[in-house]
Amino acid sequence: MPNRYLIANWKMNLPPEGIGAFLGAVNADGIVVAPPFPYLREVAAGAPKSVAVAAQNCADQPAGAFTGEVSARMIRDCGARFVILGHSERRNIYGESDAVVAKKTALAIESGLTPIVCIGENLNERERGHAMAVCSGQIAALGMPQLANAGEVIVAYEPVWAIGTGRNATSAMVAEMARAVRDALMRYWPAELAQRAPVLYGGSVTPENAGDLVAHGGIDGFLVGGASLDSKKFLALAESMNLLSSSQNDVMI
Ligand code: PEP
Repeated sequence: MPNRYLIANWKMNLPPEGIGAFLGAVNADGIVVAPPFPYLREVAAGAPKSVAVAAQNCADQPAGAFTGEVSARMIRDCGARFVILGHSERRNIYGESDAVVAKKTALAIESGLTPIVCIGENLNERERGHAMAVCSGQIAALGMPQLANAGEVIVAYEPVWAIGTGRNATSAMVAEMARAVRDALMRYWPAELAQRAPVLYGGSVTPENAGDLVAHGGIDGFLVGGASLDSKKFLALAESMNLLSSSQNDVMI
């Protein structure tokens, strides 16, 4: 398992340069690409060996009469190893509750997927000083029983006010929240899982702000939306995290 991750959340978009060109340009341990469902197989088949694939969501039921849903097992069958769960767009636009995110997390683990669980406060909650309490509640809601058999669970701290807004959290804010997240993990999750869970940051990460966040944010990587649709920008993020081998750096120069 890599100890640092750089995750591309393409949302309901594809890279304008094309999937093949994007995958041909990215190659580093710790990179995970999350395309929309219909492209999972193609991305899993075309990605370099070092690059893993994630779905952006899964059903909260294992199988059955749930029109339009895609199960964790089907995602695994397509060659994905990860699934993003509880993204703020799922929570806010589609009304996913903490309980639903917990059910999905349990099903993902049962199906052999590594969940990437998104947490984060909205602007109002931050301004009222409730950011830590909100994140800690979202972590507690995942619950011990669901997590008992997990090999790895990744947590992405994504303040809602920073997602797609061009306004990233400062490295000081991220460092403070990364410590609070780790404390909450230790309080509410099985100890071993909590200790080794990678904690990522997401929210308007760009090649311009990544260096400072890597150096001072106390995090284990990034979950990236907008900047993940352009392989040049995405590679620059990988470089700022030191994920690229020296030979890849040579090629880029
Ligand atoms: C996201 O969607 O998870 C995200 C962090 O988006 P962006 O990088 O565009 O803010």
